Amino acid sequence: MSMHELPFPQRPVIILGAGIIGCATARQLLRAGFSVILVAEFLPGDQNIFYASAWAGAAWHAAGGISPDQRYLQATTHRHMRQMALDVESGVCIVDAQEYLEQPPGTNSSLWGKSVLSKFRELELGEYPPNFSTGWAYETLVTDPTIHLPYLHKTVVTLGGQFIRKKVESLGELYRLYPESSIFINASGLGSKFLADVQDEACYPERGQNVFYRTENCRELYFRNGQEYTYIIPRPLSHGVVLGGVKQRDDVSPAVQMDIARDEIARAHRLAPNIIPENPPEENLSYIVGIRPSRNGGFRLDSEKIGDRVVLSAYGFGGAGYAYSYGVADTLLKMVQKVEEENVVVS
Ligand SMILES: Cc1cc2nc3c(=O)[nH]c(=O)nc-3n(C[C@H](O)[C@H](O)[C@H](O)COP(=O)(O)OP(=O)(O)OC[C@H]3O[C@@H](n4cnc5c(N)ncnc54)[C@H](O)[C@@H]3O)c2cc1C
Repeated sequence: MSMHELPFPQRPVIILGAGIIGCATARQLLRAGFSVILVAEFLPGDQNIFYASAWAGAAWHAAGGISPDQRYLQATTHRHMRQMALDVESGVCIVDAQEYLEQPPGTNSSLWGKSVLSKFRELELGEYPPNFSTGWAYETLVTDPTIHLPYLHKTVVTLGGQFIRKKVESLGELYRLYPESSIFINASGLGSKFLADVQDEACYPERGQNVFYRTENCRELYFRNGQEYTYIIPRPLSHGVVLGGVKQRDDVSPAVQMDIARDEIARAHRLAPNIIPENPPEENLSYIVGIRPSRNGGFRLDSEKIGDRVVLSAYGFGGAGYAYSYGVADTLLKMVQKVEEENVVVS
């Protein structure tokens, strides 16, 4: 069937990728009444190091050094996730956070987060460790990907979305598979470096490795803001905390690097000795390795007309795919609606 035989709203929107970006986008499109098919090599529940979404922390933290538009994407994500936190099955939880700053906040710092976060306050002298310049306390959101991805899978299927497990070599292969569709969303993360008709050379792998420490003391988040990159992200529903972090550009080795793990435990102990003992028992430790889909110049979120089709690109989210996810999904929904409008209002 040619694409013109099917009215626009019935043509499935094809999403390449079923990580947090593809799945969050499918949910938002389906809720708006669109028909959606996700095509991906890895699906919720899979545990491959190149499936970044399985390994994220994942905490909502206001990023510093980003544009007003990017802040709004994060703020939108916060709004949606706060709503999801009402449902324990979503894997999203509200937790108390303490953030310590090595330096006083400069221009374009993380301070904008206080316009979004609940219960934000500056810590008093003595409430934060003496080697820091200042500190903040607030409520934030943590997403447990081991629960959230299966939850999204179920939500998408319940709303009528379809998951197809398949690796493709190019976007062209998808056009041939779905000739009736006119909108294709490329949410393939690092895959965009390798797709024959994308080959985005700005994309690069950035290895992350975290320690999971099993403890019931798992309701508080700690974040060190400055040169040293250390966090303790609680996972109340998995009865533990995630310690990190590290960013290793162009490293894709799957094996756990124990020197890094030991350093992360030592840093986490210095940050929150009340939660992380100096020598946590080995039987309570496990390790997480994942490859972030990073991109020189930042992520892509744009629309292109390619022949009769529209291709929306949404990849390259590096270490912040969860923090941007639902904001990106809402933006893609608006882009799809714009194409719909052009199809409905024919001259
Ligand atoms: C250790 C670690 C900690 C992190 N902590 C945080 C955090 O605290 N907060 C935060 O916001 N983010 C965090 N991140 C980053 C976050 O995990 C990523 O930004 C996010 O998961 C990217 O999602 P994505 O959907 O773009 O990509 P992915 O999850 O990698 O999904 C890509 C999808 O595309 C599919 N695909 C690719 N190529 C093809 C192809 N050719 N054919 C078919 N399918 C294809 C894949 O199979 C997969 O389904 C962390 C990452 C790591 C590794």
